Amino acid sequence: MLTIEAEKAGPYNRSAWLYGTRGPCEPTGLFPSRPFRMILLGAPGSGKGTQADMLRHRLEVCPLSTGDMFRAAKDIPEEKHGPALREALAYMRRGELVPDETVVALVSERLACIRCRYGFLLDGFPRTVAQAEALEKILHAERIPLDAVIQLDMPLEEAVARLGGRRTCSICKATFHLAHKPPKVSGICDRCGGELYHREDDRPESARVRLTEYERGTAPLVSYYAKKGLLLPVAAAGPPEEVFEKTLKLLEDQIVRAAATAERSLV
Ligand code: AMP
Repeated sequence: MLTIEAEKAGPYNRSAWLYGTRGPCEPTGLFPSRPFRMILLGAPGSGKGTQADMLRHRLEVCPLSTGDMFRAAKDIPEEKHGPALREALAYMRRGELVPDETVVALVSERLACIRCRYGFLLDGFPRTVAQAEALEKILHAERIPLDAVIQLDMPLEEAVARLGGRRTCSICKATFHLAHKPPKVSGICDRCGGELYHREDDRPESARVRLTEYERGTAPLVSYYAKKGLLLPVAAAGPPEEVFEKTLKLLEDQIVRAAATAERSLV
């Protein structure tokens, strides 16, 4: 059974990623001339979902979210869960991070998606330096280069304000914003007609705790990728289109830089 999330993905059907080898994956047509392989980092409220959507349309890149993968796994009958997945879902239900070995094992099972000629945009993975190191080993073994790590940077109070206006669909989990991205009909999801609600943890007090926790957890990852020259910090305040254009520009510069370095190493 496909989740609404996978069904709504339409031509960007990520089910192979979500369901492992059982899931279908539908190419959108011609493969892009250049696949992009990227990681997207961004705190809750930084507009990560919107930017991921824009990137996938412009660059034909396939967004792969470990959070989506775990949520999709909840729809598979429990008797079909292996012990690793069962354990992972128990952590997720408690709101805790799934242990590194389990996440890495589940990602490693989906090598076809990592090798995909559409490239990938990882969202929610890696979450720790240990996961980043494991990903590096996988990519190295596959001889797949990582192009960039996009970091959506947003001041804490701005993110708190954004989460205060965010409304989430109770069915497909699509998100809207009362001021910046209102639904066509108040309180109703444009995508599936589900009822919109304000998540408990999006309310200011919990949001502040989550955001501080996010920053603390992500800081080592940010320095890890900065040292590798892969980090592209993008100021994420402002209209999504502007943030997107800034991201594309940084990405272009990064690709040119990487090509120049590769050329220098050949001579
Ligand atoms: P997300 O949608 O990215 O916020 O992920 C939802 C939940 O899935 C998290 O709270 C974790 O329990 C689990 N999860 C997703 N990705 C990871 C990861 N890379 N490492 C550990 N746990 C993860």
